[in-house]
Amino acid sequence: MRISDAFRPDQLCARVYDIDLETLWAQGYRCLLFDLDNTLVAWNDCAVTPELCSWFDRVKALGFRAAVLSNNHAPRILPVAQALDVAFLADARKPGKAAAQKGMALLDATPHNCALIGDQLITDVWTGKQAGLYTILVSPISPVEYGGTKINRILERVLLRSMGLKRPQQP
Ligand SMILES: [Mg+2]
Repeated sequence: MRISDAFRPDQLCARVYDIDLETLWAQGYRCLLFDLDNTLVAWNDCAVTPELCSWFDRVKALGFRAAVLSNNHAPRILPVAQALDVAFLADARKPGKAAAQKGMALLDATPHNCALIGDQLITDVWTGKQAGLYTILVSPISPVEYGGTKINRILERVLLRSMGLKRPQQP
């Protein structure tokens, strides 16, 4: 196996709204773990848009169980998780495999029925891959992000190129 295969997402989407929920459900997925920053909301922005709220209503109406899995701290995640009415795991320590396992425990999920959705290859996708989850890489909502992430982005670009993958552009 090539090193880059450890980071290969199963699917790439510009935004969470582009995820085909019905197909995921038909494929047997029942649980969705979401990264927070730059996946659901802009980095360190707590504003949950009406579009995000109604999309989560659809996620739940279809029958999915959803949670937020973030390396950020609880006070940052809480208002978003409350607005979306989902469970969350703060200080998750992605890309540790235990982060995915703890996230799955929140949802009573198994690796076979759980997908992990995030904007970072090195943290989100790799976390999911190590735990055997289906992984969806979304494009970051905003170019503004945590300083340490910028280093990951450089490596991420190299890995995506080596896998022949290109990020869909945010509209
Ligand atoms: Mg993120």
